[in-house]
Amino acid sequence: MSKIIELREKLNSEDDIKNLFNETIEKAKECNNKYNAFVTITDEYNHIDSDSFLNGIPYSLKDNFSTEGILTTGSSNLLKNYVPVFDSTVYEKLKNAGAVLIGKTVLDELAMGGTGTTGNTGIVKNPCDINRMIGGSSSGSAASVAAGVVPFSIGSDTGDSVRKPASYSGIVGFKPTYGRISRYGLFNFASSLDHVGILSKSVMDAAIVTDILKGYDSKDMTSLKDDGIKYVNEINNDITGKKLFYIKEIIDVNTDSEEVKENIRLFHELIDKIKSIGVFVEEVSFDKSLLNAIQGSYYSISCAEATSNNSNLTGLPFGERVEGKDYKEIMLRTRTDGFSELIKRRFVLGSYILKRENQEKLYLNALRVRRLIVEKMNELFNKYDGLILPSTGGIAPLFNSNSSDKLSNEYLLLESHMIIGNFGGYPSISIPYAKVNSMPVGITLTCGAMKDALTLNIANKLEELIKYDGGEYHV
Ligand code: GLN
Repeated sequence: MSKIIELREKLNSEDDIKNLFNETIEKAKECNNKYNAFVTITDEYNHIDSDSFLNGIPYSLKDNFSTEGILTTGSSNLLKNYVPVFDSTVYEKLKNAGAVLIGKTVLDELAMGGTGTTGNTGIVKNPCDINRMIGGSSSGSAASVAAGVVPFSIGSDTGDSVRKPASYSGIVGFKPTYGRISRYGLFNFASSLDHVGILSKSVMDAAIVTDILKGYDSKDMTSLKDDGIKYVNEINNDITGKKLFYIKEIIDVNTDSEEVKENIRLFHELIDKIKSIGVFVEEVSFDKSLLNAIQGSYYSISCAEATSNNSNLTGLPFGERVEGKDYKEIMLRTRTDGFSELIKRRFVLGSYILKRENQEKLYLNALRVRRLIVEKMNELFNKYDGLILPSTGGIAPLFNSNSSDKLSNEYLLLESHMIIGNFGGYPSISIPYAKVNSMPVGITLTCGAMKDALTLNIANKLEELIKYDGGEYHV
């Protein structure tokens, strides 16, 4: 069911749109009190009339997208007063489509991390259970959709940052093919892995928003030529005869966790259901040593790129400066005081990896692992339409559990396989499919590069089949 169309049908005049804006702002304030989803709630009504599906529809935007004249912090102390002088392409497109921005959402600092606990304005709580994390890094975006404040939000996904919080909060998280949506004005984290993504309540809504956002942008050198397809028109195609696969080595976990076991049991049940509608699903074996290298190589590549990309955050040209006797001391103090532990750890790792003597062993080897995984995946995508797996092993973690920013973990593969989607730049979507211990869990469907329409089509049909009813989490 499309929330966007549902809302759209009620909007017949500028007054209706303005009233919805005011109502949504009130909800956003309440959402902030309960879950801390927003860095900024927009108090200025800014609507450009258009004839698109999104005309008058309120939405939220992760606080790492540049918005001219509106605070954009990356949830970092270093940028806590930064007001950009230009718009990101995503924001510009949404504005021109008549969508109405109601706020900028909290992220894990600079989009690194996956817990929603490292933003400089405090932790984001999961509307499904406030004792639990919502995951990250698009934490506030997910919370604002899950809590029913807005029908969609824009996030970014470098390893899983749209799909993971979507899965933990019972909503849809979609990232299209690398380059499909312009990243101009999105803070760079790891440029070879960064994607714009959409969080919404349905696959249809994700398609509606992607149709507006996609297309070539000369301001982003990784931008793709538009494929000329309107995804909403392809979403109901028959999927009988399509071929999906899942990876045995990821799903075969040896665990004591009842929650993970239950998730896997439910996944197998779902696979049977999918087969019953005439879709083939096969188990495929994948080189375990390559899979085990996913997380390590992801950290090597992303930390190296992040260190280089963020080397401009010195307090010198812009941002919060801590004074010192010379520029070196200013930079040292600014970065030492300004960044959270997680960021500093990653920049130390990144600098180490990028040292000339370490590059061959740590950086170039990580790139080789990435290439081997992508080559194998591309082979599989010649034979199959898509890869399907539980989005994560367990449910959203409690706040008192260990942070997920660590390199070893019992369920490593099930917790980190979404990175495959970023390694290959593949379109990938998480949709809610069941509850475990009263908490939502998602499945992730990943298809070959450029198969955005197919991804949304299959996901939409699976959504119809699953009929997930998460209940509504209202603010
Ligand atoms: N959780 C992953 C990380 O810590 C992914 C972050 C992201 O996708 N932005 O880097």
